Amino acid sequence: MRRAAASRPGWDAVWVNANLATMVAGGDAYGAIRDGAIAVKDGQIAWVGPRKSLPRQKARYERDAGGRWITPGLVDCHTHLVFAGERAQEFEMRLKGATYEQIARSGGGINSTVTATRKASEEALFTAAARRLKSLMAEGVTTIEIKSGYGLDLANELKMLRVARRLGEEFPVTVKTTFLGAHALPAEFAGRQGAYVDLVVDKMLPAVARTGLADAVDAFAEKIAFTPQETTRIFAKAKLLGLPVKLHADQLSDQGGAALSAEFGALSADHLEYTSEAGIKAMATSGTVAVLLPGAFYFLRETKLPPLALFRQHGVPIALASDGNPGSAPTVSLLLMLNMACTLFRMTPEEALAGVTRNGAQALGVAAQCGTLEEGKRADLVVWDIGHPAELSYWLGHNPARTVVRGGRIVRQSRKS
Ligand SMILES: [Zn+2]
Repeated sequence: MRRAAASRPGWDAVWVNANLATMVAGGDAYGAIRDGAIAVKDGQIAWVGPRKSLPRQKARYERDAGGRWITPGLVDCHTHLVFAGERAQEFEMRLKGATYEQIARSGGGINSTVTATRKASEEALFTAAARRLKSLMAEGVTTIEIKSGYGLDLANELKMLRVARRLGEEFPVTVKTTFLGAHALPAEFAGRQGAYVDLVVDKMLPAVARTGLADAVDAFAEKIAFTPQETTRIFAKAKLLGLPVKLHADQLSDQGGAALSAEFGALSADHLEYTSEAGIKAMATSGTVAVLLPGAFYFLRETKLPPLALFRQHGVPIALASDGNPGSAPTVSLLLMLNMACTLFRMTPEEALAGVTRNGAQALGVAAQCGTLEEGKRADLVVWDIGHPAELSYWLGHNPARTVVRGGRIVRQSRKS
């Protein structure tokens, strides 16, 4: 049994001989502190700064980082990690020349994921999602968002959310759950989209709020999905129930999704390839984070780049996420997204790292708890075998995470020396 830490004098652990990329904004690049130290107490960061200023205090463990870099634990703020089935055959069909229509007729597309997810037991969904989660955690992810959206009926949406919650209980990672009932129109509602939105607004949202299974509400606003009017109805109801909102916005066309998100004070608007300057200004005013998803951009071979210069110009915080899902971003690597954000979107490595730390935390409404190395935040950190933080964006398919610490506890130690 763990003794009550509060009664012990001194620190639980001190990390020394480390270069810190604190990711605190406004100072040096990466918020860097060379030859720094971090003291941990009761699962939180109790002190952070240059080693020479470290107050003299007893620590139970002194940990030598060997001159390596320490960053905050990574935040993946947009994933669809819980699903059954994968769509590799559909991928192959497309590469052999099949059209979307042919794929849809052979049972492919999002409906195939919905069918498989509805059929899958809660246990099977958990096992499959846990495998994906472990890959992300091995790269230093300590906070993750997981959406529903492949159930598309009340029972199956709740099933997905329960699986997401359980992942957070059984693994050393903070899980924020999002209800995405308005992800796609389920086949049984073909031609009756209004009736499905009624179901989401009148039945699903109240039930989701009652069970406390979702921390936020999301929708897919697009020509091929839900209209701005339908999204407005869903957001209004979510607000009424006290749930924050976010949106899959302006991915394939400008639907005014960014401005609509801002109007509802959304935590984030995600994708945003087609967002207009007016939408970006609205996001800046409302404090809505822009979540860019280079994995989907890459996999769908999109060509319209998100308006990065305008986000920078108007001071909209930019986050990055994996979007891990079986249709448009079959990935379980957040580090790969850093590289893609730099190569495809021309983000800088520092912006990319801020996107999966400080800004990712803001996109989930948890910036007070994680996302930077600062006193009072949860001691979520990653020790990396790298010579400079830019390396995290530089490598393709290489994971230099050496030690992952969550809430002050070492949860992963790479065997490499
Ligand atoms: Zn998504």
